[in-house]
Amino acid sequence: MSDITFVQHDITARVPELTDPTSIIEVPLRVRVDPLTGRTARIITGTRLAPETRPDLTELTAKPAFCPFCADRIQTATGTFDASITDEGRIQRGTAVVVPNVMAYSEFSSVGVYDTAEHFFDLPELTPTRVGDLLQAFVAYTTGVHGLRPMWSSVNANYLPPSGSSLIHPHGQSAHDDVGTTIQRELVQRSAEWPGGESYWDALIRQEEGGERWIGRRGRVAVLTPWAPVGFHEVWAVVPGAHDITDLTDEDCADLGTVMSTVFQTYYSLNLTSFNWAMYGGGPAPTDRYSLLLRIVSRSNVDPFYRSDVTYFEHLHAESMVDISPEEMAGRVRERFA
Ligand SMILES: [Zn+2]
Repeated sequence: MSDITFVQHDITARVPELTDPTSIIEVPLRVRVDPLTGRTARIITGTRLAPETRPDLTELTAKPAFCPFCADRIQTATGTFDASITDEGRIQRGTAVVVPNVMAYSEFSSVGVYDTAEHFFDLPELTPTRVGDLLQAFVAYTTGVHGLRPMWSSVNANYLPPSGSSLIHPHGQSAHDDVGTTIQRELVQRSAEWPGGESYWDALIRQEEGGERWIGRRGRVAVLTPWAPVGFHEVWAVVPGAHDITDLTDEDCADLGTVMSTVFQTYYSLNLTSFNWAMYGGGPAPTDRYSLLLRIVSRSNVDPFYRSDVTYFEHLHAESMVDISPEEMAGRVRERFA
């Protein structure tokens, strides 16, 4: 059993004080190395992205004249899947529906809505059932696509414009092809190269359980914050025993739905509005060296003049810079995680 080493560089910067530039103060800065990927993340002090009040979303989220995802339009505005993938046409689970995506960002691309009954669901309305149903529908679609041939699959979501979403109606998207994405390949490849009899993910859970970044378990889903986050307010759900999206059971989807809903409620309590999540499948030849990872991050608030959470650091250096520590974030979610 080889243990994971968590490396942190403690740096002290000497800067002029904001209120008195003639005075020099010492400000701590932590640079953490992700044990799996070697990527570094900076945890800085001050300048919080989290706003003090919640923006008014009324105008942005009002029902427009046409929305392809609302119940009155989805049957006519969206297509159906090829019978070689599924005989369900549109895949429906509870309130959730998954349909072919008109945007071709992958060889096979689907889009799914948590619920068609309303045009907008605010964070607290993304309930465990709505989220779990959506995941179940995406798993059904992914299983259909993998029936054609094994490939790289991911299920992901943008939520509101700061996250990259062009449609307000809350939805998720899946991507399936023979190439995968940079981060996905990196995760799977580094996991395969991790030395020792125990997988990186099993070691991570064993070491982190009960610690200051640990949030809890729901079924076989382990919930924690990462040592070196890639985004703000980042939370991980790891599913040991599931090596690809197609390995998720209905129970896993329900558990993940509960976990994600709890994170969304925590974001709401922090006056946050926008998020991304990604669930990375294990590639065309998944092995037990990789456990399915689902990662959720918050994005800049819905405010026209709010700064982007993606600076040159993130975009051009692949280096995240966050102002809330993973340990503090774990505490915030843990309070709500019964
Ligand atoms: Zn709608």
